[in-house]
Amino acid sequence: MVRTEVTRLSPYNSGLTIDEVMLRYAPARIAKLGSNENPLGPSPTLTAMMQAGAELFRLYPDPAGRELRQAIGARHEVGEDQVILGNGSEDLLSVISRAVLRPGDAIVTLYPSFPLHEDYATLMGATIKRVGVNSDLTINVDALIEAVRERPRMLLFSNPMNPVGSWLSAHDLSKVLDAVSDETLIVVDEAYAEYAEGDDYTSSLPVLGKRDRPWIVLRTFSKAFGLAGLRIGFGIVSDPELRGLLDRVRTPFNANGVAQAAALAALADEEHLAKVVALARTERARVENFLTSKGLEVAPSRGNFLFFNCRQNASTFVEGLLREGVIVKPWKQEGFDTYVRVSIGSPSENDHFMAALQQLL
Ligand SMILES: *Cc1c(COP(=O)(O)O)cnc(C)c1O
Repeated sequence: MVRTEVTRLSPYNSGLTIDEVMLRYAPARIAKLGSNENPLGPSPTLTAMMQAGAELFRLYPDPAGRELRQAIGARHEVGEDQVILGNGSEDLLSVISRAVLRPGDAIVTLYPSFPLHEDYATLMGATIKRVGVNSDLTINVDALIEAVRERPRMLLFSNPMNPVGSWLSAHDLSKVLDAVSDETLIVVDEAYAEYAEGDDYTSSLPVLGKRDRPWIVLRTFSKAFGLAGLRIGFGIVSDPELRGLLDRVRTPFNANGVAQAAALAALADEEHLAKVVALARTERARVENFLTSKGLEVAPSRGNFLFFNCRQNASTFVEGLLREGVIVKPWKQEGFDTYVRVSIGSPSENDHFMAALQQLL
């Protein structure tokens, strides 16, 4: 009874939970570095919000998420009528695919890819056009431009890019976006933008804001804001009309009440966000130096994670780390099965990872 498109999907390669690793190896301690979670967690001001817990649990949430959308609009200098909330930004990937993609449509994405960028499109019967990274793991800008010139229905990629961590400079981003025709919906997934902002990275928002063609920028509270467990993300949409149409596709209460309240509190605490980002950058440099000093090839990263070549079957390698209580993610896509993605954790988690790796090498 199930549609052929469903049988084409692979199971999602989600990171192992702490309980699963405990059951398997019972290590003395665990560093969970497989899912890009935030070691400092959310703003401490959330504890106050949780006092109101019972009432938040009892009532249906505001289906429009008005207060949070206003706060997001103010922060990003867009109208609240351009903001859509999701049960995590992965929910919005699904909403966008269901709203836009018809069987046989093409979507262009980067490769190796965030699997959900492909899965919802596959489910809708679309064809995936993958643009592989250069041999030094940077984004192949020319190939990306060539691919969008074919006028796909959708261009969907993350910047910084997961799993590699590479990014497009403002200059390259403009070049790519300029090549997009008005038949293509641009979707830029900026799940890691908070970690990347500054240096030679800019969000696509100022560039896209000047275009009168359709675009969507996705953001999440799961990473730098530390709310992965609550499932809340958002999209900023080029115009209110498109947002309104997407709004009809989502389930009405997709952003739950606790998540909305927590996201509001998290947005208000800039100081905590700065602390999270500063720690991730310092620690990323430390772990990167360590990997490089061991002769391992590491992709330059603007995210809270590093992608490196362990030069052996990644699944076997990762099993060795698991025995030492370290959870990382073996990349299972074709051509990258000797690559591993490690999240940047707390200093002691990172020490734990480096010690385990040292032993394994
Ligand atoms: C982590 C991540 C997300 C966020 O997903 P949520 O559903 O918001 O938790 C989105 N896109 C990419 C590329 C990610 O790595």
